[in-house]
Amino acid sequence: MPFDLPALVRSRMGENYSLHQKYLNRTLVRVQQVIGFDKVYARAKGAYLYDREGNEYLDFLSGFGVFSIGRNHPVPQKAIRDVLEMDLPNMVQMDSALLSGLLAEALVKRFAAQGASQLDAVFLCNSGTEAVEGAIKFARAGTGRTRLLSLGNSFHGLSMGSLSLTGNPFFHDGFAPFLPGCQTVPLGDLAALEQELRKGDVAALVIEPVQGKGVQFPKDDYFVQAQALCRRYGTLLVCDEVQSGLGRTGKWFAFEHWGLEPDIVTLAKALSAGYVPCGAFATRRSIYQKVFSRLDRCIVHSSTFGRNNLACVCGLAALSVLEEEGLVENAARMGERLEQGLLALQKKHEIVKEVRVKGLMMAVEFAEPRSLGLKMAWKTVHALDPGLFPQLVVSQLMAKHRILSQVAANNADVIKTLPPLIVGTKEIDAFLDALDSVLSDLRKFPGPLWDMGTNFVKAMRNGTEQPVSA
Ligand code: PLP
Repeated sequence: MPFDLPALVRSRMGENYSLHQKYLNRTLVRVQQVIGFDKVYARAKGAYLYDREGNEYLDFLSGFGVFSIGRNHPVPQKAIRDVLEMDLPNMVQMDSALLSGLLAEALVKRFAAQGASQLDAVFLCNSGTEAVEGAIKFARAGTGRTRLLSLGNSFHGLSMGSLSLTGNPFFHDGFAPFLPGCQTVPLGDLAALEQELRKGDVAALVIEPVQGKGVQFPKDDYFVQAQALCRRYGTLLVCDEVQSGLGRTGKWFAFEHWGLEPDIVTLAKALSAGYVPCGAFATRRSIYQKVFSRLDRCIVHSSTFGRNNLACVCGLAALSVLEEEGLVENAARMGERLEQGLLALQKKHEIVKEVRVKGLMMAVEFAEPRSLGLKMAWKTVHALDPGLFPQLVVSQLMAKHRILSQVAANNADVIKTLPPLIVGTKEIDAFLDALDSVLSDLRKFPGPLWDMGTNFVKAMRNGTEQPVSA
């Protein structure tokens, strides 16, 4: 039988979880079932997902930051159709293709427009981690040094090099040994940074200007001082903007919040327009040429699928939509509204410890409440599992309000959202109302929301295959 995609989807829709249970990551399936995220989505548009029954879900997860321009946007859709219909040659490899050239040009122009004209050479790849791997190699080749510093609590990806930079022990367990020469320093500690830089062997300091895990960023001029120290000791500054880049924080690049002048910037996620994996990093031409330093080294760093036409048109379409629809400005405006709303919730609910917002990257951190009843509930849930509490909030946002969000870090009492940059006041207010309602429900102890915690733990421990309804 010839391959017929619509017929295949029609006939097998609903087998999603059993297929994954059988052939893919069944542990993830189990978690999705337990926390009530085991939906069968049939359609998606903009900021919304729809299940087979037509229920609408507000997507404040954005595929971990991929869908900045919203889901199924017509501009990349048309661009993909166009490139297919044009029968263009693709990945000839030993040619210099037009579309990758155009994407590189668009990125360099964008960096220049945001005050980063030093970033005038681009490498195209397929994912965030691959962009970070490239940055590691270019930093080493560009400086002739081997050591790499990153910040505590950071996340840079899960392949071996980027994992070695990731300052979060949770991801390390079971995968040692790591890339030699990688070390973390605490965010905010300039003395610790200088102590390492002074040794004169550090190729790069790699930072996320706004950290994905927990949405942490300095409130002071730490980054500016850190950059000055890097300059003094001949160390490159790499900004990993895989998550924070392309408007996510209300500026085209998060390094703009501190007026930084990075030597390398990594991008991915939103550059895909939500369709075809597309990663990139940009650097100074002088660094670039240290890698491709002779004719026989012209492909010492390369990737078969990097520069492919479909990825490049998605990159071009994403950049175009972000600009044409004013989505970076919208992210700043909606982020402001989100922050004001969350600060009001913080005043109302003592369990909210801190609100961290940069554009449409947002985290809410919770802390043990003072009132006696709630204190007991808090302690009970934390005794069951130190990472359980924020999962209750996330699960309840889904169960009661059909809103997708996420826990932000391991064993931290933090929830996080990454709404698409297209959201308006309707979506922001819906989220704020829903969070208000969930936080109000928490005051009922004993109550169904707290009971959910015990149910989760039981379900996880006994491995039952029954979905736990929240
Ligand atoms: N760097 C940062 C800052 C990220 O947030 C991520 C992914 O979340 C990565 C790198 C890795 O990207 P990918 O998952 O595309 O490999």
